[in-house]
Amino acid sequence: MLTVLDHLPDQLLDLEAHQLEDRLGGPTLIHLAGRRDPPLFVSVLLHGNEVTGWQAVQQLLRRYTRRELPRSLSLFIGNVRAARYGQRRLDGQPDYNRIWGPGSTPEHAMAQAVLQQMQQRGVFASVDIHNNTGTNPHYACVNYLDASTLHLATLFGRTVLYFTKPEGVQSMAFGRFCPAVTLECGKPDQPHGTQHACEFLEACLHLSALPQRPVLSQDIDLFHSVAIVKIPDEVSFGFGEEAGDPHLRFPPDLDLFNFRELPPHTRIGWTNNGFHLEVQDEQGQDVADRFFYAQDGEIRTRVPIMPGMLTLNSRIIRQDCLCYLMERYSLAG
Ligand SMILES: [Zn+2]
Repeated sequence: MLTVLDHLPDQLLDLEAHQLEDRLGGPTLIHLAGRRDPPLFVSVLLHGNEVTGWQAVQQLLRRYTRRELPRSLSLFIGNVRAARYGQRRLDGQPDYNRIWGPGSTPEHAMAQAVLQQMQQRGVFASVDIHNNTGTNPHYACVNYLDASTLHLATLFGRTVLYFTKPEGVQSMAFGRFCPAVTLECGKPDQPHGTQHACEFLEACLHLSALPQRPVLSQDIDLFHSVAIVKIPDEVSFGFGEEAGDPHLRFPPDLDLFNFRELPPHTRIGWTNNGFHLEVQDEQGQDVADRFFYAQDGEIRTRVPIMPGMLTLNSRIIRQDCLCYLMERYSLAG
């Protein structure tokens, strides 16, 4: 299910994300030679609705149609089937950013083939480009805290999120053998998100090496995700007054809480009875009571926390989660 090419198909750069499946047929790995090796690895469209990565690559490669890339580039174009329909993934497909660890689906095997090829070639660094569905600042995610990885992350911005769960994400697999980041570039189709990702890729292509010295704590706002908040399938929910009478109701601008440090007792929503939210820490333990409580039909925070990736998109909430909870993380030393 993987196509491997050593050149860009003609006019590929003219196609929008939803047109790629007709041209490529499925997930495609394209190796482009540049002045320096090993290649920069870039993956886009692991989530089919997150088009900023593809747009950034289009913008970048148009600059090099008549001149050589400063460094080789291996480009992986992921879930073009879901991209056709503007979806994160289609029903029946695994999430393409959860297939990079052990697993038995054809998609897992495809991801292993990509990893093997790239390990053989060697990788300078790996960049996986995503969007959020809710309002969020731009930030990079890392799964390892070594100096090179953190330098790569801060090249994108000073807000960096460190997480170790969920497993099976691209940056966790690549991070085992090269500096690897996931870029979150705000909502799809925003020109400044595309621009930001494109300039980041351009900078990576021009780097001769990533610094080995430690990142100074004043140069980074490092957060650690400590829990994931989900809404169980049997629990109904909605946003604002029009939502009718669901089990859970949230304000229509809930995503404005993203990356804001909330004081204890902040109201995040209303409940018609009971608590309903499912909150798991990175070990999979139920920690709902540690972070939230329900009182007089309201759900409030119990401790100071910062949510991220809150979205108002019901399908994304069902497919992924309501949000993550984060705490500041200080680098040792
Ligand atoms: Zn994504």
